Parts: sequence; structure tokens; C-alpha cells
Amino acid sequence: MHLLSNPLRDYAWGSTTAIAELLGRKASGRPEAELWIGAHQDAPSRPVGAADGETLASLIAANPVAALGAESVEAFGPRLPYLVKVLAAASPLSLQVHPRLDQAKAGFAAEEAAGVARSAPHRNYKDDNHKPEMIFALTRFEALSGFRRPAEAAALFERLTPIVAGSPAAEVTEQVAELLRTPREDEALSAAFARLIAGGEDVRACVDAVAAAIATSTHARSDDAALATVAHLAAAYPSDPGALISLMLNRVTLSPGEALYLPAGNVHAYLEGLGIEVMAASDNVLRGGLTPKHVDIPELLRTVAFAASAVPMVGPQESELGQELYRPPFTEFQLQRIDVPADGRDAREPVPIAQAGAVVVLVVGGSLTLDTPKGDLALTRGESAFIPDSEAPALAHAGPEGVLAFAVTTGLGAASGLD
Ligand SMILES: [Zn+2]
Repeated sequence: MHLLSNPLRDYAWGSTTAIAELLGRKASGRPEAELWIGAHQDAPSRPVGAADGETLASLIAANPVAALGAESVEAFGPRLPYLVKVLAAASPLSLQVHPRLDQAKAGFAAEEAAGVARSAPHRNYKDDNHKPEMIFALTRFEALSGFRRPAEAAALFERLTPIVAGSPAAEVTEQVAELLRTPREDEALSAAFARLIAGGEDVRACVDAVAAAIATSTHARSDDAALATVAHLAAAYPSDPGALISLMLNRVTLSPGEALYLPAGNVHAYLEGLGIEVMAASDNVLRGGLTPKHVDIPELLRTVAFAASAVPMVGPQESELGQELYRPPFTEFQLQRIDVPADGRDAREPVPIAQAGAVVVLVVGGSLTLDTPKGDLALTRGESAFIPDSEAPALAHAGPEGVLAFAVTTGLGAASGLD
């Protein structure tokens, strides 16, 4: 097992305090958006005490089968198939969508063949992998995810029309509402989305007019989450069509302990909150607004799944010891929550770590000792570890003050060791 040192990403939308408070460390004073725990090439974790230049990625590369297990190497290649993040959003992230595996493979190959530099700002596909994700809320967590029924979205745009009546903005809201009333739902969603994302001058002016009108109107109640979100997004990204596109999406508030997964084609944005995010090891993001970065509209329209969907929540499965497993419908990862209260009757029962390949463990409260046939490793709040496949099975012994920790492994097999 290896105690890890993990890189912080300082994206501007990050909270300056949330990650430091969660992990019991000193805040840097700058935005701390994401803590990355994994072996991603851009910012790999490092085993504490490792030689200069050694990272979790190089440790895995030195002996992939011992680190990951043969089944994981067979399924995902000789690399850690997932990346774990602690994510702290103080302001909204970009509206985005992730490609299917076949789209990522084709898109990556096409950009390689065309000689587009991997670091080029207009490059769409950084690698040839898909990027399914899951977010587990540690605090109240606000997000947009997937399309609502077009009729519901149409009703929202129809509420906007009277509050901007007489201005050119009303023509845009009326037109989008009409597109959303197209009889076929997929056509309705794609026509309205395409109209907005094209972001002509009329759309950009409409965003600002609508935001201003919502702020002052008595017709648009300020407690209406969908309309309040438009104003909030337009304040952060003036004139950005993504603010109006948000009306077409499900507005989600996760309570602590709730989790949501994002399949390929799902248009989503994280708005605010602290969570544990797990994803396949990929960087393939197509942005669709709420960003100053490159938006490739044709590629975006090919990638978005134009179908209304319920919010894809992931409920936990419980093991006999009362520990919870969140298993989204992807094989790359699953998340185990290990929650042992200070004086709970289970406090002395070790908790089996669900393991199917390599495991990453993060402690966010209390302490635990990981116990494998190859040795022990004690972790306190804020500390994390890598358990190679070759050291399974692992048990977690909670410290006297209890523990709240998360363990991520692949979703291959039945995750032996849980029951
Ligand atoms: Zn995403």
C-alpha cells in the first residue's frame, strides 16, 4: 500500500475554503477547485517518500498486473481505469457533454490524422476513451443534468416572453418555445438547442435581457429554481447562451449522500457544492456554453443525446456491515462509503474494502487503519492511499473517533470482499 500526495487544481471556479475544511488542511488562499487522486498524465498522485520523478502512474507502469490485476489490465489496458476527485465549486462550471467510446475513438483518430496538436485550444479529443462520471454530494450540491421534457422547457420559455415583452428578446423566447413544441421530442430538443447554442447577437442580447427582467420582475418568482438559475448563470457568464440552455435541462439539488451519474451524451453542469467525483480516466469534454473556451458546435451536436431523461441517480447498495456501495452502470469504477460512528456498535468490526483491481481510499473524517496480508497503513482525515490488486483483501479498522472514508475500485466482477 502507498500513502499518496495529491495535486490540487486551482481552476477559477473553485472554492477557496471547502477542500481545505473537508480535509483539515491549511487553505492556500487561492481557488482550490479539485484535488486529483489517481494516475492521470496531467497531474498524477505521488507515493509519499517515492524517488524524484516517481508517480502513481510510473509505479503502475512498472508492474501493471500487480498494481491493477489481470482482469483490469485486460479490460482497460495497463493504466488506472478511473480518476477520483474532491470537487469544490463556488461558481458554475461549463456546460458540457462527454462522448461515447466509439465517438472518442473516431474523434481522437481523426484529430491525430489531421495533425491537430494535443494542446491546441480547439482540440476536442485529448485521448481515445469515453468519460462516464459520477458525483457524490458531500454538501448540498447544485447541478444541471439531462434534458427535461420539451413541453416543460417550452412552458418555461413561454413564461419569459411576457416579462421581456416588446423587446427583441421576446422574439427569441417565443421562437425557442415554438421549436420546443415540435411534435417529435428529439427534434424539438435538437432544434431548440441548436438555435440557442449558435449564439447569434439576438440570443446573446436575449440572455442579458431575460436575466435583467428576472431580477426585477414580479412575474418571475425569485424562488423559482429554473428562472433563478438563468439569472445566476448570466451573472457569471454575461450573454452566454448556456444560461438560456439551462432552462432545457433538469435542475438538480443533491442532498449529502446522494449521487448522480453522467452517461455519454448527457448535457450537464455543476453549479455549486462539494462532492467526490469519480470518472473514467479520460479528458474528453465537449463544451456547450458557460465558458470562455472553445465550443465546436457541429461536434457538440453530434455528441449530445437529444432525448428527455429522468435525473440518473445512483442509490447505494448496502452490505451486511451497513457500508454502502454506489455502482453506476459503468465497469470503470464504483464507490464505497465507509461510515463508522465513534461509539457505534460496529466500531470494532473491521469493514471489508470492496476490491476489484486497484483501490484508492480517501479519509474525510476520523481515522482508519488499512489491513492487508502484506501489512498495515494508518490514515487520518485528509489522507489517502493506493492499494494494489496484489495486496487484496483489505480490511478497514476504524479509529476510536470513527471514520468517514471513500474507497474506489473498478466495477468489474462482483467486487469480492464486500459481503
Ligand atoms: Zn462532465
